[in-house]
Amino acid sequence: MTDLLSLIKETGAYRAVEGDKKRGMLSHAYLLITADGANLDNYLKIFSKLIACKDGCACGDCRACRLIDEGVYPDVYRFPKDGEAITAEEVNLLIEESYIKPIEGDKKIFVLSHAENMNLAAQNKLLKTLEEPPKGVHILLGTTSEFPLLPTVKSRVKKIEIPAFTPEKLFNALKDDYPDEQKLKQAIACGDGTVGGVVSLYGDEKLSLVEDLVMDVLVNMQSSKDVLDYSIKISSNCQDITDFITVLKLTLRDLLVLTEGRETEVFNKSKISALKNAQNFCTGSIVYALEHAAEAEKRKKFNANQTMLLEWLLFKILEGKYKWRKL
Ligand SMILES: [Zn+2]
Repeated sequence: MTDLLSLIKETGAYRAVEGDKKRGMLSHAYLLITADGANLDNYLKIFSKLIACKDGCACGDCRACRLIDEGVYPDVYRFPKDGEAITAEEVNLLIEESYIKPIEGDKKIFVLSHAENMNLAAQNKLLKTLEEPPKGVHILLGTTSEFPLLPTVKSRVKKIEIPAFTPEKLFNALKDDYPDEQKLKQAIACGDGTVGGVVSLYGDEKLSLVEDLVMDVLVNMQSSKDVLDYSIKISSNCQDITDFITVLKLTLRDLLVLTEGRETEVFNKSKISALKNAQNFCTGSIVYALEHAAEAEKRKKFNANQTMLLEWLLFKILEGKYKWRKL
């Protein structure tokens, strides 16, 4: 099993809650924010343990920690019970339950997962409990985005954030479970700094598919007539063109060092022979393409239209290719 606890223990989020506990000042409500939707529940479990553990930390060995791991600790309540979104009815249950004393310890923990899916009625119902919960009650909200939450909810909780992890930390945490070193490094380089993101890139064939698409564009896209075909091909294979742009940037970087004769510095060694087919590119056109890929990434963040952005980028790659055409 991937050692998520070691990763989390090094975050400011963990240290903040640990510090609160040491000072006997645990907040009655925390909002845990992470971009890693796939591991949100795992992270919430770690923080539940940290709060409930008899020890100062999420020791993993005491009765509370073990039962939380198994999902059967009687003083931890998880919502939604089933389904994707916590309903107003469930919040009613939570409120009723919050007045009943804990069974094992002195704390009762309510874990609200994927709070971003809660509708306004459910959020509104929760407000009073968030403001004045019964003694010993701690509410742990977990979300992948804080934007769908009401400002009145956010103002009543202590915000703790899991940041993007560095490539080194991700590599060390994942190398035992994902032994193909080259593939793992590539997945980390293309990922978003989350464990879930890296695992999904490593696990499926998506990454090599995107790599092939990028190579196809660099080697075979010859004229503006091709742009539309490639745009359709890329859009139908990448739900989000960010993946395409990220892999494009890495490939261009490899192409650049290869063009400059620094073959040993190529990151993705398995693609060297394929890169050598992209001969129409010289330093000028690669740098030009890199600059426009970075610009496309920026525009994507501001919600530019995906198809138009992709076509614009492909045109720019072609433009650069001919602007600095080798004579
Ligand atoms: Zn423990």
